[in-house]
Amino acid sequence: MSTQPTGIKADRTARTIAITWQDAQTSTFSFDGLRLACPCVECKGGHAHMGKITAPERVRDAPATDLGLDALQSVGAYAIQPQWSDGHNTGIYSFTLLRALSGFAA
Ligand SMILES: [Zn+2]
Repeated sequence: MSTQPTGIKADRTARTIAITWQDAQTSTFSFDGLRLACPCVECKGGHAHMGKITAPERVRDAPATDLGLDALQSVGAYAIQPQWSDGHNTGIYSFTLLRALSGFAA
């Protein structure tokens, strides 16, 4: 299973972030789905829940809001850190997590 992206594209009109993986799969996430799956301690409700990821179906079916993306930073070579328009920016989404959130079996 590839967790190395070859391309990351934020589309502020479609409100999606699309990640192309080394194995040529593409994961397209809505801003709302990614925001819902925020892996930070605050959103996960404490360290005890940090290991649990949001189910891919919930990410895919996240209700649309007017959430925007102010910035998208890379964190080393392993993650991205979005700055959402609601002021939240502590979620670090590793590529391993993003691949899991996309629901691809392999
Ligand atoms: Zn968060």
